[in-house]
Amino acid sequence: MSSRSMSNGQQHNHPGARTGTRNHGVNTIDQDQFLTILSREDALAHFETALFPRAMPVEERSLAEALGFALAQDLVADIDVPPFDRSNVDGFAVRSADLANAGEAAPVRLLLNDEAIACGTAPTRPVLSGSATSIATGGPLPRGADAIVMVEHTQPQGNRAIEIRRAASPGQFVSYAGSDIARGETVLRGGTVIGSREIGMCAACGIAKLSVVRRPRVAVISTGDELVQPGQKLRPAAIYDTNGAIVSAAVAENGGEVKFFGAIADDEAELEAAMRGALETSDMLVLSGGTSKGAGDVSHRIIARLGKPGIIAHGVALKPGKPLCLAVCDGKPVVILPGFPTSAMFTFHDMIVPVLRRMAGLPPRSDAKVTAKVPVRIASELGRTEFVMVSLVEGADGLIAYPSGKGSGAITAFAQSDGFLKIDALADQMPAGTETEVTLFTPHVRVPDLVIVGSHCTGLDLVTAPLARAGLMVRSIAVGSLGGLAAAKRGECDLAPIHLFDEKSESYNTPFLGQGLELVPGWRRMQGIVFRQGDARFKGLSAEEAVRSALADPDCIMVNRNQGAGTRILIDRLLNGARPDGYWNQPRSHNAVAAAVAQGRADWGMTIAPVAEAAGLGFIPLAEEHYDFALVTARRERAGVQAFLEALGSDESRAALKRAGFTKA
Ligand code: AMP
Ligand code: MG
Repeated sequence: MSSRSMSNGQQHNHPGARTGTRNHGVNTIDQDQFLTILSREDALAHFETALFPRAMPVEERSLAEALGFALAQDLVADIDVPPFDRSNVDGFAVRSADLANAGEAAPVRLLLNDEAIACGTAPTRPVLSGSATSIATGGPLPRGADAIVMVEHTQPQGNRAIEIRRAASPGQFVSYAGSDIARGETVLRGGTVIGSREIGMCAACGIAKLSVVRRPRVAVISTGDELVQPGQKLRPAAIYDTNGAIVSAAVAENGGEVKFFGAIADDEAELEAAMRGALETSDMLVLSGGTSKGAGDVSHRIIARLGKPGIIAHGVALKPGKPLCLAVCDGKPVVILPGFPTSAMFTFHDMIVPVLRRMAGLPPRSDAKVTAKVPVRIASELGRTEFVMVSLVEGADGLIAYPSGKGSGAITAFAQSDGFLKIDALADQMPAGTETEVTLFTPHVRVPDLVIVGSHCTGLDLVTAPLARAGLMVRSIAVGSLGGLAAAKRGECDLAPIHLFDEKSESYNTPFLGQGLELVPGWRRMQGIVFRQGDARFKGLSAEEAVRSALADPDCIMVNRNQGAGTRILIDRLLNGARPDGYWNQPRSHNAVAAAVAQGRADWGMTIAPVAEAAGLGFIPLAEEHYDFALVTARRERAGVQAFLEALGSDESRAALKRAGFTKA
């Protein structure tokens, strides 16, 4: 390509040497490798220096198949567009001089030549003085004619003549040859990304094939003994391979041609064979997992044997994403992304996408950005550039960005966030109230019609379903009951779902409402003791008896709930001071309790009936928990709130809640 044609070969410079990183092709990588953590900026700069400039492979593609590719060189038109002088309207080709004196009082009569020039018809008769030829839009101008008169401005005089009562200027309604694109003109510059408009330009010039930058072939490998491909059955202790799908899609989104090699077990020989095979047919290799220094983490050791210069950075001051490993093996980028899916995604977007796009000849991403205020203090690790996913809601004076991450292991945060903010490596926090830039995951922010911030319940999705069907956008942010109340008091949401038990008044929720908030009754969730079906220690007992039975068996392990959970209060009351084995296992959700019991890590715990049922567990009902809504009174009249209140009171939601095991209040 002309504008950015690249020199052959890669620069084998060796930035690691400058920073003290050992990265030669030796068989083992020392421990100190991982201790040399580069800043995000240094790591990216070293990575790019090792890869660019580089030759960009070029290929010919048909026009239709060139969509989304970068043009490899300038494209020059070798015809004029339009190729001839043509009429822009339906009318008559004339000599403008004949009409110089035409007017309302002085009509000019022109004799019609006996041809009509349709689109695609070449004229055969000249337009002589005193004559005109009928011509259609797009028809080529006949010899002698220099203007077109619109048919609306003419009067037929029998079949053979027309009368015209206005003058015509030379060139009127004529598009001259080459007026759109002139032969020899550069129509598209090398590096232009081909979209439908560019395809249109090429088609107009008669160009059927384009020389484009070939998509970099990117091999994707997941690593880990625990990984199972989606669609297959999950065995105990296994998880689905998320990164394989995510990285493959992100490669395709950024101009790469992906080949997914599946998940390879943490076996050095097997993995090395797979990596070598993948690299042979690819321009780039992206692995995920196994980048830490765990016993099973072998991929970074293999890289050292794959080619020079090898590892450029292993350990980057990013959060999430510290264990990222960047390497260049004989000119090809080889990358190991961290195993946690969100870490893998962030590092891929931040550090790999720029390189991939450059290899594909594409411009850097131009993600949309907005300014928003953070409502809460966000702690951050000093020395690491931190990315925090956020959900956006509209506050009284501008957008508010709620941190929505749940730690680097959570994939849902990605789907539920609007974008992310960045905390500088030199900051140890972002104070509440900071105005900051948010990079959006989507091209635009869509401000939600209804904002629900507080405790989440699966019943909530049932109630908001009709709103979504009606085209209302509901944003539900799970921050727990107390977080929801605080947001409601700051006016950052419409509703805060809460289930808070007040021990003094022995009642739910109402005692916690402050000024400006009112209670909207929600539903009840039966809490009770869960155990594996058929466990004789619990079968047929009341909750009190079940706990006595559990306490009597020293082998019986419980699973508790976190301090502050309504469920925890019930458990503590039942235990009456006892601290059986498992008491300090305190997960934060109803589902985690059910999973612990179902999988045998614990024998009993307390959760809500629908969760117990979904997990197939035995259930001893104890008490009903009230799940209600704190409504910000000032926002009651908003359309989204009204729609919610209507949906909450509807027969449809009542029935749906009942089916799911909830009781409408
Ligand atoms: P690793 O770096 O291999 O120790 O992985 C760190 C964490 O990420 C572990 O919990 C892995 O199970 C998880 N993980 C690694 N690879 C994947 C993947 N492809 N999909 C989902 N989770 C993964
Ligand atoms: Mg692993």
